[in-house]
Amino acid sequence: MENRAISGLVSELISDHGPLLEFFGRYEERAPTAIGDFVAGNPQEMPLPGFVAALSKWLVPRSKDHFAYKMSVPEARQAAVASLASARGVRFAEEDIIMTSGAFGALAASMRALCDTGDEVIYLSPPWFFYRGMIKNLGATPVRVDVDRTTWDIDVPAVERAITPRTRAIIVNSPNNPTGRIYPRANLDALARVLEAASARAGRRIYLISDEAYSRIRYDKRGYESPIGSYPWSLLIYTYGKQLLTPGERIGYIALPPVMPAADRKALRTAITMSQLLLGWLWPNAVLQYAVGELEGLSIDIAKLQRKRDRVVAGLREAGYELNVPEGAFYVLVKSPSADADSFVEQLASQGVLVLPGATFEMPRYFRISVTASDAMIERSLPVFAATIKSPVSA
Ligand code: PMP
Repeated sequence: MENRAISGLVSELISDHGPLLEFFGRYEERAPTAIGDFVAGNPQEMPLPGFVAALSKWLVPRSKDHFAYKMSVPEARQAAVASLASARGVRFAEEDIIMTSGAFGALAASMRALCDTGDEVIYLSPPWFFYRGMIKNLGATPVRVDVDRTTWDIDVPAVERAITPRTRAIIVNSPNNPTGRIYPRANLDALARVLEAASARAGRRIYLISDEAYSRIRYDKRGYESPIGSYPWSLLIYTYGKQLLTPGERIGYIALPPVMPAADRKALRTAITMSQLLLGWLWPNAVLQYAVGELEGLSIDIAKLQRKRDRVVAGLREAGYELNVPEGAFYVLVKSPSADADSFVEQLASQGVLVLPGATFEMPRYFRISVTASDAMIERSLPVFAATIKSPVSA
């Protein structure tokens, strides 16, 4: 008799995420004494006072239903509609905004709603590290397509080659984690043409899952082109966790754009609701939903974030590092000076400087630095980066 404590699928997912789990195992021990923690898009400073005020205000019950089961709360939907209308000039229908437990919940519910077992979902590499696992966990098959390694744009001919009759969706993340690229309109239009033609050929719609977690984290006054402006069968996914730097308070949404045919939107709304329920109630908690009106108007200081990006970029370049300057999102992608990036990352870690190794996001020659680190962390760590590049040790 086979007697495994856990499912075969989950043991496979654990082994797929081996480098990440191993890294985070060590990270938890090291983070409290680190001189610089550049690993995740986590806050390294106290939260926005407005965030605390909004939650405190809405914590006080106003009716017996204040803490009753809540799917998408009307006030939260209305606040998202108003914000999208003013920021994007697109008027979403209130019912087409589906509140979720962050982008994680939105991605899971979207893919559950769209995919049958064996359907293929294309993701672009380097990816956010959980796309593959989430796709597999839903019984679908992840298909990797590398982005152009010089421009970091979507390699549209490569996507076209990867499409099969089983392709159901493609995940596009712009501004991108980890490259920082904001895909230009022409790139998204080219992708849309390929998706449209392939859907027509297969007689089955390919959906675009647009992970816009970082759409409000942009530098140098860079505008934002959303994939929904190129391809009507796009699901816009948003999380407030980046804009507010509060990823432990889980809230975001899926928005179905008005250009998507009404019948498809209706079917998706029902399918997503069912998926959210059966995946384990993926709506955000009530208090956060009531607070969206206030939260919409709050943001971390993007100008300050940009100054930190500039300081990190200038400091590392001066020390001799080869890196990529992000247009958006929190991360600077740095090429490891030695071919053995894992031991280089270890060497930094042994001096208290924690960065994320590229093996966790399919780029083993690189590491990633989050500029959510504090100014003090950056100033303490730059000399360590400078010294370490001069004397890399190989394992
Ligand atoms: N997508 C991307 C690209 C991300 O970087 C993250 C967070 N690191 C998420 C989704 C998940 O966001 P949240 O934790 O707010 O759900």
